[in-house]
Amino acid sequence: MIEIVLLGTGSPIPDPHRAGPATLVRAGGRSFLVDAGRGVLLRATAAGAPPNGLTAMLVTHLHSDHLTDLNDVITTRWVTSFAPTPLPIHGPPGTERVVASLLASLEPDIGYRIAHHDDLTWTPDPEVHEVLDGVVLDDGVVRVLAAPTDHRPVEPSIGFRVEHDGHAVVLAGDTVPCAGLDRLCAGADALVHTVIRADLVAAVGLPRLDDILDYHSSVEQAAQTAERAGVGTLVLTHYVPALVPGTEDEWRERAAAHFSGRIELGDDLHTVRVG
Ligand SMILES: [Zn+2]
Ligand SMILES: [Zn+2]
Repeated sequence: MIEIVLLGTGSPIPDPHRAGPATLVRAGGRSFLVDAGRGVLLRATAAGAPPNGLTAMLVTHLHSDHLTDLNDVITTRWVTSFAPTPLPIHGPPGTERVVASLLASLEPDIGYRIAHHDDLTWTPDPEVHEVLDGVVLDDGVVRVLAAPTDHRPVEPSIGFRVEHDGHAVVLAGDTVPCAGLDRLCAGADALVHTVIRADLVAAVGLPRLDDILDYHSSVEQAAQTAERAGVGTLVLTHYVPALVPGTEDEWRERAAAHFSGRIELGDDLHTVRVG
């Protein structure tokens, strides 16, 4: 069984009810945090996934809304661990530079805490692994794969596939339909995909909002990707505009017109199990 918890279903637009983009995947006793948007640790705590228990962090791309709270994940893991537990962070090329800059910004805090706590003698030291394509990790119980996606001009961007016990879940991140994502999705049990309601966004008529249409998948395109790959369950997240309670069926119907499997969507902490 693989469990998916939508920790944050929001987008860059602040929302009082939706945390920023982040998804938790649990499989075989491992916990993976995919992206770390606004408020991620509030939701991770609600899901019973403290940062000091994470197996690894998976970063789909370096857009700020997916990383606003990575500093919180790094710091909180560090100060709540009683022995050095470097956080493995797997992300696209460029991740190393972003994490190094974050650590530089945390330098005063790291100094204060080490000076204050006699038993805290080590610095956070996350382990960054930059990846674009192929096997990210394989510990014999869980295997994680990555492949390039298409979120240009945000480049590079990647999607992940988490495999355990003959089952697989794919995390697309932000992308338009592309060959890399198709490859990751082939035969997967579930696909978690950022979606845009192109009809609603276009109706607003704001050029800066219109810009997002050309580098994200619409609900219909995400559904087509899932159908093409024979995915069992399509999980919609990162709703733009925000999913208004009571309109879930509208989103579901748009996906169902192109996808014959199960469709899941909802609020933060919505949980889907496959396998
Ligand atoms: Zn993005
Ligand atoms: Zn995004």
